[in-house]
Amino acid sequence: MNRAEMWSRVRGHTKPWDIVVVGGGATGVGVAIDAASRGYGVLLLEQSDFGKGTSSRSTKLAHGGVRYLEQGNIGLVMEALKERGLLLQNAPHIVHDLAFVVPNYDWWEAPFYGLGLKLYELLAGKYGFGKSRLLSREETLKRIPTLKTDGLRGGAIYYDGQFDDARLLIHIMFTAFEQGATLLNYVEVTGFTKDTQDFVNGVLARDTETGEELRASAKVVINATGAFSDRLRQKALPAAVPMIKPSQGIHLVFGPEFLQADSAVLVPHTSDGRVLFAIPWHGHTLVGTTDTPVADAELEPVAMEQEIQFVLATAGQYLEKAPRRDDVLSEFAGIRPLVRSGGSIATAALSRDHVIHIDTSGLMTITGGKWTTYRHMAEDCIDQAATLGQLTDAPCVTHHLKIHGFCVDARQFGDLAIYGSDAVSCIRRFHIQQLR
Ligand SMILES: Cc1cc2nc3c(=O)[nH]c(=O)nc-3n(C[C@H](O)[C@H](O)[C@H](O)COP(=O)(O)OP(=O)(O)OC[C@H]3O[C@@H](n4cnc5c(N)ncnc54)[C@H](O)[C@@H]3O)c2cc1C
Repeated sequence: MNRAEMWSRVRGHTKPWDIVVVGGGATGVGVAIDAASRGYGVLLLEQSDFGKGTSSRSTKLAHGGVRYLEQGNIGLVMEALKERGLLLQNAPHIVHDLAFVVPNYDWWEAPFYGLGLKLYELLAGKYGFGKSRLLSREETLKRIPTLKTDGLRGGAIYYDGQFDDARLLIHIMFTAFEQGATLLNYVEVTGFTKDTQDFVNGVLARDTETGEELRASAKVVINATGAFSDRLRQKALPAAVPMIKPSQGIHLVFGPEFLQADSAVLVPHTSDGRVLFAIPWHGHTLVGTTDTPVADAELEPVAMEQEIQFVLATAGQYLEKAPRRDDVLSEFAGIRPLVRSGGSIATAALSRDHVIHIDTSGLMTITGGKWTTYRHMAEDCIDQAATLGQLTDAPCVTHHLKIHGFCVDARQFGDLAIYGSDAVSCIRRFHIQQLR
């Protein structure tokens, strides 16, 4: 994949594209894969690096969402658990299972979490990642030796998935390319072209590297800009009612000494009614996250001091050695594109989790959802886009579409395992360089 070659494809494309996708995060790239693999002509434009937005700032879990189960949202959990299973099947070089320990300090926690997690396991059906069970106090401490011992009764263990979000994004981007999509980074969509009925029929964009202007016409334009969705919608329809309520989540990175384990910890109830994870991550400990409403989306959000203090304080309630401010090695923040409920916005909601909305301008927006369900979101979106753009009927084929680098046993490549089958060419290139 080469940017100059992508640009020459765009310049040589004189007909309208079937679909132009704006935004190169998990949602946009997933949409590009789905559309291209159905045989549609697809152009995707990203204003910065692919995955620069929220998609590289997540907790990196392929999960059904234990939290939604507690809220009674069984349908949503089942959908996400199925997608978690498909992700593992199609990208085993990037996704792997991870054991999570829920420490119990109160008498009611063992039966409550034990039952809940058993249900979580059962809902996954054939896409299950491992059996949940209760742990004795000794077993709990063997799994997570750094847990606070005072009052610890035992724990419950369950399994979910973990993945490197930025790496998966790069691999799904290659997959979209291999399926025939044209993808350009550092091209910002600045406006839209419209037909005589004031209906969006293309985009205006600018190469932020060279200043080159681009005008690309399309049968359907899909807005997959996550937390920036409203900004783009209002470029097409200034009166568009905002649908996003941006919410920031941060993560702190500590040294491995705070976990000393291959398993993760789930704190099921924080003081703000959420969950907090402490996860082994590339030889370090990743702890997060928060949920702080913010006024607007930014491409480079920054962790607020009160968020950092909240994560430190919550982790300190569960870890024998409470992490301090100067133990923080790194921090990162991401913005959730949460969809407002109610209000005056009429949405074609296909699930409680993600939303597909078509403005009177004809611009289609897909937002909400989560990384884990990106494939299913894309399938829903292209089903709708095919109707909107009167495209030739073509079924979705991504259920079993292997992600670039697919490799059943990538562990044979050691530190390069995450590259999957690309590791072979990495190793070859390394040896050639050594010979020179
Ligand atoms: C703290 C946190 C933790 C999370 N943890 C998990 C998790 O563990 N598991 C999970 O499944 N999900 C998780 N999520 C949710 C998941 O990360 C998001 O749902 C997903 O990444 C959203 O992807 P997106 O493509 O919609 O948005 P983004 O990744 O933000 O992509 C939007 C892109 O649009 C581009 N763009 C914007 N405007 C323009 C324009 N005018 N022209 C061109 N490009 C433009 C941006 O540069 C950006 O790259 C988490 C989210 C947060 C915030």
